[in-house]
Amino acid sequence: MTSSYLNPKCEAREHPQGGCGVFARERIAKGELVSLWGGKIVRKEDLDPSMPRFTQRVLQVDEELYLLTAEEKEPNDCFNHSCEPNLGFTGQIGLVAMRDIETGEELTFDYAMSDGEPYDEFDCLCGLADCRRKVTGNDWKLPELWQKYDGFFSSYLARRIEKLRR
Ligand SMILES: [Zn+2]
Repeated sequence: MTSSYLNPKCEAREHPQGGCGVFARERIAKGELVSLWGGKIVRKEDLDPSMPRFTQRVLQVDEELYLLTAEEKEPNDCFNHSCEPNLGFTGQIGLVAMRDIETGEELTFDYAMSDGEPYDEFDCLCGLADCRRKVTGNDWKLPELWQKYDGFFSSYLARRIEKLRR
């Protein structure tokens, strides 16, 4: 039994650039639910960055709170970051299609939509025109992203942004 839900129109497979990715097996319409992560809620002080697959298994879901996915690898662990993504958040653990997605496309979200702390920072090699090159726990503060991902930030970041806007 898996602890997460993945829309059957998607599958995880090896990524041509290494690691794994999630890809559309058929067309996905804008607004469709693609993924819901399940797992265990963990407080920040109880996170262990030295655990195997830490960045694949950990997702920030609120202030000082993280979702830790199942120990056994699931397809939902394979969603990659993109600076030009086709998925956005619904709630804190759900991903929906931000636009129509064609068969074969990789399904990605922007980690700025979910990360409000520096637990998963890296150099981005997506190579797209909008690429930020460095992905950090502060990217959610960029006003250009507020516009680009309006309605698609994780709930707790949407609340933070609302406060800053006032
Ligand atoms: Zn990038």
